[in-house]
Amino acid sequence: MNLRTGLHRRFTDDHGNAYVYMANSAAIHALDPLADRLTGALAVADASADTVVAGEADPAAARAALQDLFDLGVVRPADERTPPRAELPPMPFPLATLVLNVTNKCNLSCTYCYEYGADKLTAANAPPGRAMMLPETSRQSIDFLLRSSQDRPVVTITFFGGETLLNFTTIRAAVEYAEEQALRVDKRVHFALTTNATLLSDDVIRFLVAHRFGITISIDGDQKEQDRHRRYRSGKGSFAEIEPRIRALLATNRRERGRPIGARVTLTQDAGSVLDTYRFLIDDLGFDEVGFAPVTAAPGRGYELSPGAYDKMLAEFAMLAEDFTAAAIADRPHGFSNLNDMLRELHQGIQKAHPCGAGLGLLGVSTEGELGLCHRFVESKSHAVGNVRTGVDEAVRTAFLQQAHVDHKTDCTRCFARPLCAGGCYHEAHVRHGDARRPNLHACDWIRGWMDQGLHAYARIMAHNPRFFARYETA
Ligand code: SF4
Ligand code: SF4
Repeated sequence: MNLRTGLHRRFTDDHGNAYVYMANSAAIHALDPLADRLTGALAVADASADTVVAGEADPAAARAALQDLFDLGVVRPADERTPPRAELPPMPFPLATLVLNVTNKCNLSCTYCYEYGADKLTAANAPPGRAMMLPETSRQSIDFLLRSSQDRPVVTITFFGGETLLNFTTIRAAVEYAEEQALRVDKRVHFALTTNATLLSDDVIRFLVAHRFGITISIDGDQKEQDRHRRYRSGKGSFAEIEPRIRALLATNRRERGRPIGARVTLTQDAGSVLDTYRFLIDDLGFDEVGFAPVTAAPGRGYELSPGAYDKMLAEFAMLAEDFTAAAIADRPHGFSNLNDMLRELHQGIQKAHPCGAGLGLLGVSTEGELGLCHRFVESKSHAVGNVRTGVDEAVRTAFLQQAHVDHKTDCTRCFARPLCAGGCYHEAHVRHGDARRPNLHACDWIRGWMDQGLHAYARIMAHNPRFFARYETA
């Protein structure tokens, strides 16, 4: 029987110690020099066990090491065929998060916004949906969530827009109702919200902090970065408006020991330095976390990232990852949430059949109560999966999840990044490739490059401060 290595990625810590990340199991294994040599040989060409161990100084030790690698799944029979199974978990899958698009209006007019720009998914010629979700629809949504969460003890309601805080009336009504109903059915409910920060009044801040909202602020950096794309319809930048409001929110949240507040930065072709933006948002404004996301854009938009811009972003992420790693080794907190999220997934051995929870544990609700795969699909009739009043159309949901399974994405089945990427965001795939079920192959180099950085950081932190990972082991 000839042997070969399973699909994997080799990486090292800064002493050169080797590890492998296995795509089929999402397991990480440390390799001693002998196991590393054997794995390296079988990654290049199939060979029999006799051939592989023959060149080793101690063939008996090599044979034992090979057996260990086989037992761990690092080495497999060369002719082993694992047909894609594309299995779904038992359906209907219990709902964990419902994203309520409480409004489809916004008071800003950001140039790259998918909600208003040419990339909006609203069906052609469809009448515009109701601008504001009624409190009654939010209550029906909450009943639907509690019903559909089956025996999950905790559910999350995320408020989204347009600009979410334009409909604070419904947010307030929904929170009061959700707390009441969750108590009645003995569940806990968490709240989250994304906002552009322009409407953060003192009242709103007090309310959000008192109800322990997980808050994400969409902001692109300092005045120059923010005002480049995040502007009012008049063309006026929004930085001057949001800065004092964000400072007030962060100060109240810190005083009241609220949940960490994150900034979400959209990176465009013309964005400045990632490093400078991170430092400004953390050190100057005082955010707890910052996450960066490349802009979603169909080909041909002026702000979409070129291959060179992806390379620049990766190089800057490497510098931030270096900072994060040094902090983790010294047991200091660090707010680079892209890396924090990846380390958590690596440590927990996350292996995704789908890129995200959309359509599975997470659904979006339109202002009128229609259910979509997630908040970005809520007014796309072609991606509707039911209604909060009548429930999920399970046949439609299951058919989509089946077709979007990573086992059906041929390139992904040959890619080591598959367990965490699984083909990437459905919305981006729809915008870029016209089909939410297709993999985002335009971004693979960037995804794999970023994952290499995460694996290297993982190894380095593991070598110097393994206790760091305890934070990812609690529920
Ligand atoms: S989209 Fe690209 S990077 Fe992601 S799993 Fe598929 S092939 Fe790999
Ligand atoms: S489809 Fe994209 S936007 Fe929607 S939840 Fe998934 S990753 Fe997020």
